[in-house]
Amino acid sequence: MEEPGSAVNGSVALTVREVITETPDAKTIVFDHPGDGLRYRPGQFLTLRIPSERTGSVARCYSLSSAPGHDDALRVTVKRTVDGYGSNWLCDNVAAGHVIESLVSAGAFTPKDLDRDLLLVGAGSGITPLLSIVKTALFDGTGRVVLFYANRDPASVIFAATLRELFAEHPDRLTILHWLENVQGLPTTAALQSMLQPYDGFEAFICGPKPFMRGARLALEQIGLPRGQIHIENFVSLSEDPFTQPATIVTARGDEDEADSAGVTVLLDGVTHEFDWPRSKTLIDVLLERGVDAPYSCREGECGSCQATVLSGQIEMTSVGALDEEDIADGLILGCQARPVSDQVSIEF
Ligand SMILES: Cc1cc2nc3c(=O)[nH]c(=O)nc-3n(C[C@H](O)[C@H](O)[C@H](O)COP(=O)(O)OP(=O)(O)OC[C@H]3O[C@@H](n4cnc5c(N)ncnc54)[C@H](O)[C@@H]3O)c2cc1C
Repeated sequence: MEEPGSAVNGSVALTVREVITETPDAKTIVFDHPGDGLRYRPGQFLTLRIPSERTGSVARCYSLSSAPGHDDALRVTVKRTVDGYGSNWLCDNVAAGHVIESLVSAGAFTPKDLDRDLLLVGAGSGITPLLSIVKTALFDGTGRVVLFYANRDPASVIFAATLRELFAEHPDRLTILHWLENVQGLPTTAALQSMLQPYDGFEAFICGPKPFMRGARLALEQIGLPRGQIHIENFVSLSEDPFTQPATIVTARGDEDEADSAGVTVLLDGVTHEFDWPRSKTLIDVLLERGVDAPYSCREGECGSCQATVLSGQIEMTSVGALDEEDIADGLILGCQARPVSDQVSIEF
């Protein structure tokens, strides 16, 4: 049994400090921070292992709403999904003192520069990563932060009090634009375009239900934000259980694989790595085998944590999961799905 707080094979046992009811269908689970066992950036998520009598366990991702370096606890907020297994299990069963296994934090939905002006566009439980970004940018950055936040009605607004407090403390840097569907109707692309027009030079982060995100992205593109300045987090359920997968996958075809390899140059966190990339293996498997600390979580193409950009050369992907056509046209790939096609590939994370 893993001791609370110790990181083993990329997973850590987290002790629940408190459970807070946020709205009738959303609860915040507050974990003791395990110290160096878990570092994270604003906007990243945890992958929790949820027990199941049917399958042993299921894995579900939940974005951290806490601010790294400022909150002494880790916080995730779980909104019940109708007929969903994991979200309802967490809301119904978790209590103070419980220990839950989690993968270490992951995700690429995080600002590279906290001093930039940020436009955060969220709906419903999509607020969780955005709150972490709001807090961290206000505490550690210098730019303006604009939050557009849509909800069904006043009772379903998660973190209403926290947002009021943040606004009271930073009225000169924080702008909050609430949208209530019971008063204003659904936030259409045209409405979003007109409300967000003044922020066309900002770096944008969108999180919420799929149709909302589609409309928000279109609105931002129409007001002239370049594609590279729009970041999106998709809240999907994992269909596999990454807790039961080995940290590295070693194929039985060793020598054969090495013979049929491409060359790859990977730029990650300012360091350039060069090595052979066996054509039968995914980029993430090869990086992990070589001891490179590459970003990944689900390894199914669903969470988008291992997104990278092809600078030159050609790859193929088993599944394009979290990517859309424009992402692919922009050269984005998922490291956990990518295998080389050309003899030489250059990739940047
Ligand atoms: C990066 C990321 C961040 C996210 N952040 C958040 C967040 O901050 N807040 C939030 O609320 N959500 C978040 N999500 C979504 C979250 O991960 C789940 O998708 C969501 O909670 C719904 O999960 P669910 O299990 O309740 O529903 P579903 O996935 O719809 O549950 C149904 C599934 O569970 C299976 N199932 C049913 N019964 C059982 C059983 N007994 N045993 C095993 N399997 C069973 C079914 O086969 C079915 O596939 C995030 C997702 C991602 C990828």
